[in-house]
Amino acid sequence: MAAVTFNNLKKRFGKTEVVKSFDLHINDGEFVVLLGPSGCGKSTTLRMLAGLEDISDGEIFIADELVNDLHPMERNIAMVFQSYALYPHMSVEQNIAFGLKMTGVAKDEIAKRVKYAADMLELTPLLQRKPKELSGGQRQRVAMGRAMVRTPEVFLFDEPLSNLDAKLRGSMRAEIKTLHDKLGTTTLYVTHDQVEAMTLADRIVILKDGYIEQVGTPKQIFEEPANKFVASFIGAPE
Ligand code: ADP
Ligand code: MG
Repeated sequence: MAAVTFNNLKKRFGKTEVVKSFDLHINDGEFVVLLGPSGCGKSTTLRMLAGLEDISDGEIFIADELVNDLHPMERNIAMVFQSYALYPHMSVEQNIAFGLKMTGVAKDEIAKRVKYAADMLELTPLLQRKPKELSGGQRQRVAMGRAMVRTPEVFLFDEPLSNLDAKLRGSMRAEIKTLHDKLGTTTLYVTHDQVEAMTLADRIVILKDGYIEQVGTPKQIFEEPANKFVASFIGAPE
């Protein structure tokens, strides 16, 4: 596990600045939700932390190490996306193990980690199935298993539940919460869904047009919204 620090982080695409002076410290083991409307810069911020997008300005530290110039594979991070692309020709077991095989983890260690993740995510009876034989929620759990076996210091989620129907979203939300309670891995979770933010977060960061509008616990944000935008976005009384 590890703390994450963003120092005056900025991102420009051409002349347009889409992330503007992003400052945030995420404590070791904390679950932070980045919440804001579509286009406000959530994914770009997450992708800079993951190393999938260059930084225009500023610094990112993971566990006190400056990671600006580190390759994504060197950052000890695992990311779960909204479109959880599984390999259709591989079994659930092979899908979960794939990333580990690529990085040269020993066979018996891979087997141990896959078993642990499958047990925790209740995928054990499904290990020999192909993705097309799974429900949407089960596929999402496989994607989480794939992230989990890498034993990352930081979990990143980018709108992981937005392709699921409302009922499934509720149960997956509960599973993500349980997973975090069990593993305690530092997590940055991106969503535009207020309910997800309120139920999952230790702290919520409200983003608008690339600016942080407010950082606080769900209770603080709901009871003392910093401005009208936050109040109306979160559905709190003004
Ligand atoms: P969010 O995830 O909050 O919906 P994004 O981080 O994806 O927002 O995007 C923030 C802004 O940056 C948007 O206006 C988007 O159009 C723009 N943007 C994202 N990626 C690129 C890119 N590769 N080139 C140019 N503009 C981009
Ligand atoms: Mg996005």
